Amino acid sequence: MSLVKVAKVIINNPSKAVDKCFDYMFDEACIGDHVIVPFGRGNTKTDGVVIGFGETEESDKLKKIDCVLGRILSQRDVNLLKWMRTRCVCTYYDCLKELLPPGAMSGKNKGYGGFGDKLLKYASLCLEPELFDEVLSELEKKAPAQAKVLDLLNQLGEIPVVHLGELAMTTRGTISALKKKGYINIFDKSVERNPFSEEKIVTTQPLKPNAEQKNAIDYINSKVDNNEFCGILLRGITGSGKTEVYLQAVAHAVENNKKAIILVPEISLTPQMSERFKSRLGKKVAVFHSGLSIGERYDCWNKIKSGEIDVVVGARSAIFTPIDNIGIIVIDEEHENSYKSDMSPKYDAREVAEEICRLENAPLVLASATPSMKSAYRAVKGDLQLLQIKNRYNNVELPDVNIVDLRYELSNGNKSFLSIALQEEIRKNIESGQQTILFLNRRGFSTFVSCRSCGYAAMCPECDIALTYHKFNDTLVCHYCGYTINNYSVCPKCKSSAIRYFGIGTQKVEEELKKLFPTASVIRMDNDTTRGKLAHHKILKKFSEEKIDILVGTQMITKGLDFPNVSLVGVLAADMMLYVDDYQASERTFQLITQVCGRAGRGNTKGRAVIQTYSPDHWVIECASHQDFKEFYKKEIYLRKSMNYPPFGDIVNIIVSGQNGNDVKNTISDISRNICSKFKDLGVEHTLLGPTPAPLSKINNKFRWRVILKCDASEKEREILREIVTVPQKVDVNVSLDINPNNMM
Ligand code: ADP
Ligand code: ZN
Ligand code: ZN
Repeated sequence: MSLVKVAKVIINNPSKAVDKCFDYMFDEACIGDHVIVPFGRGNTKTDGVVIGFGETEESDKLKKIDCVLGRILSQRDVNLLKWMRTRCVCTYYDCLKELLPPGAMSGKNKGYGGFGDKLLKYASLCLEPELFDEVLSELEKKAPAQAKVLDLLNQLGEIPVVHLGELAMTTRGTISALKKKGYINIFDKSVERNPFSEEKIVTTQPLKPNAEQKNAIDYINSKVDNNEFCGILLRGITGSGKTEVYLQAVAHAVENNKKAIILVPEISLTPQMSERFKSRLGKKVAVFHSGLSIGERYDCWNKIKSGEIDVVVGARSAIFTPIDNIGIIVIDEEHENSYKSDMSPKYDAREVAEEICRLENAPLVLASATPSMKSAYRAVKGDLQLLQIKNRYNNVELPDVNIVDLRYELSNGNKSFLSIALQEEIRKNIESGQQTILFLNRRGFSTFVSCRSCGYAAMCPECDIALTYHKFNDTLVCHYCGYTINNYSVCPKCKSSAIRYFGIGTQKVEEELKKLFPTASVIRMDNDTTRGKLAHHKILKKFSEEKIDILVGTQMITKGLDFPNVSLVGVLAADMMLYVDDYQASERTFQLITQVCGRAGRGNTKGRAVIQTYSPDHWVIECASHQDFKEFYKKEIYLRKSMNYPPFGDIVNIIVSGQNGNDVKNTISDISRNICSKFKDLGVEHTLLGPTPAPLSKINNKFRWRVILKCDASEKEREILREIVTVPQKVDVNVSLDINPNNMM
């Protein structure tokens, strides 16, 4: 038998049954090529991507690549894709859809365009929106190719005709037919159009760094110049000049013809922030965020792909934009949990960034005032290089922090969410025309129960995590191990019957503020008020420009904001975060309080912070009120170690859902059994908790069961898990696996 050289092709199809490489003969193909191949029994024309080469025995069954559409992935991204499939325990398709242009994989339109053509003709939809659905369904019956084109245009807005043809995998004839019918417009557009040309950008000069900043900049620059991978933790309190440090390092990389990515939490993508980047780094900065429409994102993506962009600034998903020749990646506010995706692929952008930096031999800079436990631990171990800025720039004073014991409020007859002390401070601020921000943390559906007299909160004896109240059967449940007890009506510790169910919302707070301060203006920012494009920005703009007295919001308002006129911040219930059902509860509480305190008094006046809590003596609250990261870290890392929580061991949350309860139970049992036996065979130490019904045991009529696996999830373990969970399941059964998730629901 003779051997033939074949291309390894992955298929652009979400079915788990096709999640592998298929061999094809070829005349000419490169790694990363987007190809059309005959696929399946009917040899249907399907598109895919070449991710490698190999040899196989010659056979009649071996098919041949039909044609190469163009280069779609770089060699680096092919490597990244292979790494991600194991790291995120998912399919090739899951990874592919992150790396391809926006809109390319949605709905019926699979397939994506080749790039690099000189483009002049653009197409756009010219159908009344009311008619669109009707015309589309008509065409789907008679002329599916035309329907595909319309659907695409509807999603993308205007796009080059060449891309349109490739995306819809159709001919110019189809496009002309639609033009004749008057459904679409074809027009000329200059290729050189510059989406930033309308913006007036005032260039700013780098500031003269102080000694600590200079030290950090020099260190990072040396790594850029040496093409050396290096993980760096840049730590310094809010306002210490971290942004200035990484701006200068990024500018240095760009001057040396290298490119950069700066990731920021979504909320920070306010215009002020992007202006700061653009004014310093020039016009070749692309801002990539979820506020853009699919069409805008598609344009932006193409611009990056064409090589015109030097620096991409964006939220989590910007890490996948096709920018090559990376000289540095920066992750600002690296402790933010929005960097971890909870949708498939459940990637952590910090890990992806690190892998890209490894592949590109570039430094990764993680910046934060309150580093994540994981990064802090890695810095202690020497895995990350720690660079510190200890002094606040200009030595602006930190705010006065007042911890208010809410238990006394109750015994003093004050049943409001606002303590007397906080009410006083708010009143002072209103009278002197200064602004106030009030934070209320509320996450998911979880409610915990605590005693209003003594602060006692029920914890799981096994997991040391707060129990969550389940209203429907009046029980308290541990969301990790399933431990359940009946809810109590008197406090087990002090016998008080003043049991409090946490779960107040921002709306209630707003109502109360209006009662207490009828003349004050109040604005609210939470999930309800921030739907829609730029809603965050509008609220914040209104707050600062119209001098609204009080802004009430969830934790989404803590980050990256700079309001000189805000001199008071209040945290309404610091415990609400402390006792959520999550091993990261302490970490998040510490971060939030510290970040909040950093918000007060950035102008000329010294700020004040009021932290309300039922547990004023809790060590986390104490450490946070003194901004004592070292002490916090020491205690928390000890607890993590003793419970084998991350960064020591990993927590894998596997959830199976579906309409048929028996199918769901059988699937989750099979999965647990499989994991146990494979891990045992290979001698992998692990603990399996469950299967038990998931904390949200039924959503939309779907039953949900879960197991929690505690182990060291390194490459070998993840590969085993991937083989177990990414196999095809019964039609209606869905399996989700998340490693170290943000949310255990
Ligand atoms: P961080 O990112 O740590 O919050 P920033 O880089 O935003 O800090 O700096 C905080 C403030 O201090 C900004 O207004 C910035 O312009 C100013 N600043 C930082 N570094 C310098 C410097 N070297 N010289 C003058 N002003 C500086
Ligand atoms: Zn009590
Ligand atoms: Zn438990």
